[in-house]
Formats: sequence, C-alpha cells, structure tokens
Amino acid sequence: MNVIEIFSSAQGEGKYIGCRQVFVRLAGCNLNCAYCDTNFSRADFCNVETAAGLMKFSQIKNPTTDEVIGIVKNFCTQVPTHSVSFTGGEPLLSWQFIFDVATALKKVCDVKFFLETNGTLHNELKKVLGVVDIISMDIKFPSVTGKNLFGIHEEFLQTAREKDLYVKAVISQETSTAEFLQAVELVAKISPEILFVIQPVTPFNTVKAAPPIKILNFQALALKILHDVRIIPQTHKFIGNL
Ligand code: SF4
Repeated sequence: MNVIEIFSSAQGEGKYIGCRQVFVRLAGCNLNCAYCDTNFSRADFCNVETAAGLMKFSQIKNPTTDEVIGIVKNFCTQVPTHSVSFTGGEPLLSWQFIFDVATALKKVCDVKFFLETNGTLHNELKKVLGVVDIISMDIKFPSVTGKNLFGIHEEFLQTAREKDLYVKAVISQETSTAEFLQAVELVAKISPEILFVIQPVTPFNTVKAAPPIKILNFQALALKILHDVRIIPQTHKFIGNL
C-alpha cells in the first residue's frame, strides 16, 4: 500500500461529474496505457491538501491506514462530500487498504465509496465489493494497451454489475470502430442498461483527439445496442482543478 495523494475536489469525469469527492490516489498500475497522464509512481511521500479544496499541499511520509482515515474524515467534515474516490494507478492493487479504510469510515462518515478502476482485477474486486458503492470501470482497447482485455473485462463486469456501475471508454484518433463495437457488445451482453460513457481523449504526448464526427458516429452506433450512451469529456482539465 502506498498512498501518494489525498485531496478534496470535484469529480471531473463520468456519471458523477461535478460531485464533491475526497480522492485517495494509490501508487502502481498493472497496465501502461498510451494516453496515461497520471503520475502513479511509488513515492516516499504523500501529498496531502492542507485543507479541503485549498489546492495547496504538504508532504507527509507514507501515511498509515489510520492516518489516511483521519485525513479523509477531516476533509469530509470540512466540506459535505458525496463520496470518497479510490483512484490511481489501479487502486485494486491495494484492495486490503481500500477495505480497511472504507470499513472504518463507514462508521463515522455519511459518504459513499467510489472505485475508479481499469476493470482487470476481478478477484481483488470481489474482496472489496461489500464496501464499495459506485464503480467506474474503464474499458481498455487493444490500441491503447497492446493487449486484448475483453475477456478479463467481462469477468470484471459480471462481478461489478451488482453495484452502481458505469463503463467509460476513452476515444482517440487511434480507436478503431471494430474495437469500439466489441466493447459495446460486451457491455450489452452483461446488461444493455449499464451506462456507457464515451470520453473523448484529452490529447497527451503523441495521442491525438478523435474528430468530433467520429465521436458522434460512435455514440449513434452504441445507441443501437445500449440504452444510455453519453459523451462526457474530462472537465477538470479545462476548469483547472485537480
Ligand atoms: S489503467 Fe489508468 S493509471 Fe493505469 S496506465 Fe492506464 S490510464 Fe494510467
């Protein structure tokens, strides 16, 4: 377990965009996506916001689970908070920590627990399913990871479907229609009611944005198969918050 950031901000993506959250960022990831813009490297220090939403940080040496619980509880007291987001990296690599923190906070805070995941660690998901309320699962395309993860995503979705679940797919110039449709059909196989979020990529390094017409065409294709398909960009990037 290695927590690298704790702060309070508005969720910038997906179904709960705009909701106030406390973010707990965990180090490490089992994937290496072409568009990844997150520094999730392990570090000796954790950046902790000095007050909820102040966007100023102090550094503390690797906090213990009890210290993290205290910091999150304090932020939730300072600002009424919708949910605590475990993010990364891939937070399920630290499933025991998530379980311990959420179990303790459920006794003292009236918040939901939100998991932002790449949807590849379904055994670890089973271990935290009882304490997590909302799951935001990314579908990772072969053009992004160099791997075909659809079978692994299917196992993950079968486990995650009992929660408040939505799926997010980041679309770039590289995304092919074939892999997009494979993702849509995979979600439909689990349930056509699951919200499918198309997130136009925020250009990064060599990753280029998809033309707007492609994004609209993809939505039209998906709406023939799924009931709820929304185009939602990352808002925190242009608002300038965390
Ligand atoms: S799964 Fe997320 S954190 Fe991991 S490499 Fe991909 S974009 Fe980055």
